[in-house]
Amino acid sequence: MASTKFKNAGNANTNPVENKVRKEIRVKVGPAGIARIVFLNSDGAEAHSVKQFVNLSGADSSVDGKIVPNVYRAGNKIRLKVVFNKPGTYPFMVKCEPLGGNAQYTPGELARNARFAYQKEQNSYTTGSDGSLALPLEDFFVGAAGKDRYVFRATDASGVTVSTGILEVHRLIYYVELKMRSLTSCAASLALVEQVYAKHHIKLLKLPAVEMAYMPNIGENDAEAFQADARRAYAKSLAVGKQPHVIAIAYTGHLAVKKANLLVSKPSVAVGPGSAPALITISTQPDASSLIPEPYFLWHGLGLGESWFVSARFTKAGGSAADAISIPREKCTPLPSSPALPQGANAVQIDVSALPLATGKIELVVNIVDRMRGGISFFGGNLICVCTKAWWSTVDTKMQNEVIVHELGHKMGMVADGSGKLPDRTVSLYDDAKGHRGNHCFHGLSATQSRYDSSADASRSKCVMYGAANGFSDFCVNCASAVWKVDLSDGWEPF
Ligand SMILES: [Zn+2]
Ligand SMILES: [Zn+2]
Repeated sequence: MASTKFKNAGNANTNPVENKVRKEIRVKVGPAGIARIVFLNSDGAEAHSVKQFVNLSGADSSVDGKIVPNVYRAGNKIRLKVVFNKPGTYPFMVKCEPLGGNAQYTPGELARNARFAYQKEQNSYTTGSDGSLALPLEDFFVGAAGKDRYVFRATDASGVTVSTGILEVHRLIYYVELKMRSLTSCAASLALVEQVYAKHHIKLLKLPAVEMAYMPNIGENDAEAFQADARRAYAKSLAVGKQPHVIAIAYTGHLAVKKANLLVSKPSVAVGPGSAPALITISTQPDASSLIPEPYFLWHGLGLGESWFVSARFTKAGGSAADAISIPREKCTPLPSSPALPQGANAVQIDVSALPLATGKIELVVNIVDRMRGGISFFGGNLICVCTKAWWSTVDTKMQNEVIVHELGHKMGMVADGSGKLPDRTVSLYDDAKGHRGNHCFHGLSATQSRYDSSADASRSKCVMYGAANGFSDFCVNCASAVWKVDLSDGWEPF
């Protein structure tokens, strides 16, 4: 039959049909070949291209079935399976190939943190008798940098190579907002924070906010009480189930620091029936460490049951302490510096008409605002805190977002100083010795300044990691490299 068919199909010079038949026969009798290499899902299903959430661990509950579809997409270790086209035991090699544009970790970085590396060396395997093999989990892993991409290639003994689809590296952090009851000044949305981090390949996923007890102000001695309240609220939130990959963001009212018992005196005041009220402007000797602008403001509406007023008294000229006459609080009226800021009082008007006729000295003792802080970053743990009020005005949503980007940056180890598991030292880093507290970024300013904390510095700085609010919400080019590379797999201990 075959010879007849060939004759009919062509002549001696062209015999395409004959070639085709021979090819079919060769396949049927030839050796088995490699068919495919795939990623595995936890249910055993095969996946072509995948998003790998490298900072998460398969053991935690951050796998939600949607964004992180199954536990095999969590962590830096990659589940791979190689399949041949027929049963039998076959040797093959597998290698991990980074695509162009991936982060380039330096030798120093690779030496400091094993999570920066991907599996570079190729490995040799033999399939099981069914012609397939799920590779040991420990064998292949990818680096920490967000949006880095890899493919995995397997080659059989005859040199045929097959490839997976693309594996793209992702990082995911949950956050929960702790909002003080009745505090209406919290940022309406953290969209800007989410956008900035998404740009640097870190997904922030919001959990339902919870309420915490109200504190009008958190002063220097209130941090413990504040954290205790925040902890009670946090314990009731879904964040607990997302540890250690979750950050708590607490909103506070003021973060004002009080200067107590300031004595302000005014000499040569005429008092008695018919006398004009005495006006006392609040001022102190400027203190080098104080950020307070002039004028100095009374401690007003900043602590439950706390008053600006301590005492007032009048002593006639030449009189002794025994002659001092106490002036009651209701005779003292704080005067706002502007009608727009009724609580921002920097002067006190004292009604002296009820005192006996005399001339002498008024001594007023008051509590004042020493300084207002923009945010608190609690060392260690997963709590950051943003102030929603400063100088009795609401801090707008944009600035609250900027503060949160900054404080979250600190939680991720920014500005990276090349210590521990962090990426290399950022070139525009400055530390406490040159101003502010912690590691910050002077991008936009000269590298040779001895300090970076003047107000002129703030207005020329160009990075969200500068040490004071400067209107920037994004990481500069220097910090961006560290945010891209940083390993977030440790997460944070609950505060
Ligand atoms: Zn800072
Ligand atoms: Zn920077």
